[in-house]
Amino acid sequence: MNVAILGTGYVGLTTGACLAYLGHDVVCVDSDPRKVEMLRQGKMPFFEPHLPELVADASEHLRFTTDYSQAIPAAQVVFIAVGTPPGTNGAPDLRYLESAARGVGEHLGGHFTVIVNKSTVPIGSGNWVESLVRDAFQKRNGSAPPGGTFAVASNPEFLREGSALADSLYPDRVVVGADNPQTSEVLYTLYRPILEQTFSAPAYLLRRDDTTAVPLISTDLASAELIKYAANAFLSLKISYINEIGQLAEKVGADITQVAKGIGLDARIGTRFLQAGIGWGGSCFGKDCMALVSTAGEYGLEMPIVEAAQKVNRRQRQRVVEKLLGELKILKGRTIAVLGLAFKPNTDDLRDAPAIEIAKRLIERGARVKAHDPVAMDSFRQHYPDSGVVCCETPEEAIQEADAVVLATEWPQYRELNWEQVAASMRSPILLDGRNVLDRARLTRAGFRYVGLAG
Ligand code: NAD
Repeated sequence: MNVAILGTGYVGLTTGACLAYLGHDVVCVDSDPRKVEMLRQGKMPFFEPHLPELVADASEHLRFTTDYSQAIPAAQVVFIAVGTPPGTNGAPDLRYLESAARGVGEHLGGHFTVIVNKSTVPIGSGNWVESLVRDAFQKRNGSAPPGGTFAVASNPEFLREGSALADSLYPDRVVVGADNPQTSEVLYTLYRPILEQTFSAPAYLLRRDDTTAVPLISTDLASAELIKYAANAFLSLKISYINEIGQLAEKVGADITQVAKGIGLDARIGTRFLQAGIGWGGSCFGKDCMALVSTAGEYGLEMPIVEAAQKVNRRQRQRVVEKLLGELKILKGRTIAVLGLAFKPNTDDLRDAPAIEIAKRLIERGARVKAHDPVAMDSFRQHYPDSGVVCCETPEEAIQEADAVVLATEWPQYRELNWEQVAASMRSPILLDGRNVLDRARLTRAGFRYVGLAG
């Protein structure tokens, strides 16, 4: 099928590369000419494991442009995958969505086109996008689009940065929200190789033996839109729940790792997202929780559970600073090493990264912060030129002469550090394990005072 993707960010480019790999003809459109130029040269605008290989493998079916007229008229399916960053009052900023929808309306071809909201958009956006497309079409053509020209669907995205390609090729489920069967049928045809798992897997992204047919949830627009928000809010509150229990574990002398395991092995609960630590970050959880609360507010509803999840998450970041203060007594003039800047491993995404907020608070209190990240440092220098954080080429360099080190992102390479050697290079070997992933006994043997965030 002919597919257009609007936005070549984490979601758009992943979707485009996967669909092109499956044999669809995909044109990716981005309003940022620098990104498009990079992609044309085979360079990725962000870090995502195996993305360069997949884009290269799919290149026969994948093109990049800034020009809607090169993509929309021929497309049978148009995915809108532009950013929906937080706006004011908790509601997302929909200006990119609006401009994309208008662009689609101006360039619609003469055949039936399915316009898909893949961006995370507030409930009711399907209808809004439809009216924007209709208006733009009418302005450009002088008359309303004839019936059957287009339909709007919702197809929320559940990929995780760091494993975005596997999540897209082997998803837990595909959700499609549409208000007529013809639209659902088009998307079913598009996704059939994924739903039935009939494609041959790339050598670098092998299908797990237990991956079978992927469930399709075919529903109405509003339900699909709500599924995305409800899923992200649930994951957020699972993390906040274990962090709240972690605080109590610390008081009563319990080991939160064991507690989480003991809870999680109950199949009704599950072990994933029960890792106590600094809490969540990234471009989605905070923004989507805020948007859910904001949407509920429009209907006079409160969302106390989701609000509490946000509150606990904010408190975790503050606790890092308080713990360091407790250990060092005075932060002014101290040097703190922060390991990891990205909001999680295997990505260079810095949006709402806990490490950055923690570094900022430490600097505000007069500390000097030295930081390292395996892939996110260029992006950090570019986005935070005046942060005051000293970027170091190696973790050892960041830790040398530091008064304390904070593990903020659990990159696997940090577990493998020669901790004995780095402890010896510090002014005072204090380690705050913000992700509860390091071996307390081993670090203690290496000479560290190990400080956990919970228990
Ligand atoms: P992103 O910021 O990485 O990418 C958005 C891209 O859209 C940018 O390259 C930008 O230049 C481009 N753009 C903006 N306006 C445009 C326009 N009018 N036409 C064409 N391109 C335009 O965003 P992302 O992380 O890929 O997120 C996209 C959406 O998907 C958001 O709604 C987000 O909430 C949702 N989502 C993200 C993730 C994730 O892990 N990143 C996961 C699931 C859902």
